[in-house]
Amino acid sequence: MADTIFITDERIDGDTDADGPLAGCTVAIKDNISTEGVRTTCGSAMLEDYVPPYDATVVSRLKDAGATIVGKTNMDEFGMGTTTETSAFGPTDNPAAPGHVPGGSSGGSAAAVAAGEAELALGSDTGGSIRCPAAFCGVVGIKPTYGLVSRYGLVAYGNSLEQIGPFGETVEDAAALLDVIAGPDDRDATTRAVELDGESYADAATGDVDGLTIGVPTELVEGADEGVVDTFWDAIAELEAQGAEYHEVSLPSVEHAVEAYYVIAMSEASSNLARFDGVRYGPETDADGNWNEAFSAVRKEGFGDEVKRRILLGTYALSAGYHDKYYKKAQDARAWVKQDFDEALSEADVLASPTMPVTPFEQGESVDDPLQMYLADANTVPVNLADLPAISVPAGESDADGLPVGLQLVGPSFGEERLIRAASALE
Ligand code: GLN
Repeated sequence: MADTIFITDERIDGDTDADGPLAGCTVAIKDNISTEGVRTTCGSAMLEDYVPPYDATVVSRLKDAGATIVGKTNMDEFGMGTTTETSAFGPTDNPAAPGHVPGGSSGGSAAAVAAGEAELALGSDTGGSIRCPAAFCGVVGIKPTYGLVSRYGLVAYGNSLEQIGPFGETVEDAAALLDVIAGPDDRDATTRAVELDGESYADAATGDVDGLTIGVPTELVEGADEGVVDTFWDAIAELEAQGAEYHEVSLPSVEHAVEAYYVIAMSEASSNLARFDGVRYGPETDADGNWNEAFSAVRKEGFGDEVKRRILLGTYALSAGYHDKYYKKAQDARAWVKQDFDEALSEADVLASPTMPVTPFEQGESVDDPLQMYLADANTVPVNLADLPAISVPAGESDADGLPVGLQLVGPSFGEERLIRAASALE
């Protein structure tokens, strides 16, 4: 089953009578977003046969907009990974860099757009899972401000961190998909209405960066590979040539962001995944009678190694006596990261960095080294800790290996239009 973009290759027609904004458009959907009547596996053997009885809010909105859904895409199991290799359904190749990973965890969605299997795609981003695959596959991905897009029907991994967001080949395409999915939802009390400056997010893709001030956080450039850094500065020079100006800024707290992110994400995961108990979900096992045995048998069989590792670490971090040592410290670090971003954004319109400090790994290179995988998230996870919006836009190829490099722009809360305007200047 190697090299799969779609876990389930099924077409779902939207409202074809309506001349909605996405009429005639094809959209691929990450397999942790619920689709009524079409199985939704989260890349896990635990949910191999699970068919949701309802649509996620974003899916209803796509249908109303006239879009055609072309399938459910491969992903790291429950969103836990940076390469799409932790999927129980096998890896996905990178259409922009064959033999390399497409990034993760929304690797199938980014690959679907890069390979032309769909014009648009939806992913989810808990700590970089939209931006990383966008950067690795040479497409555009947007991680919305926490609360802009409904999470109703998104299978939870780290619910205080994650948002559903769009992929497109261009900034304007991704923005047009954001227009359809954004906005308040009675079924997700963390959503809110946003007053736009213009008519729509897509309208903001004007490419006008005249007078834009860009802050470049030193800490997010320092650790990146040389080829990535060179490509990054070329992109900044391109924006300067169009009238933007940049200055360096410092975010001292981001040094602790990866640690804080993994403590919080794993803690939330250990709680969110407790529902996979073998009663409502999960494969048949031959454990009989004793509920504890049945519970552990189904989790042993249904979950892969990375998911088990995170449930164990998250449970440990939350256990009595350790709460203050890990979880509380991580929450303090989260508050510090937020404050650093707010300060930096009081003196710049947007912040810019390489999306990923590295170019795409070769297939198989990082699966046995979880720490290497976690550290690759250094530039994306701080944004989720701060609840802010960010976009990844192709910046070109690294001179070192010819592989795709993404530029990440981070903006103030609900400042998506500004990010869309600035990112479109690089196209
Ligand atoms: N790579 C990060 C993780 O494994 C981010 C995943 C995500 O955003 N879903 O947690």
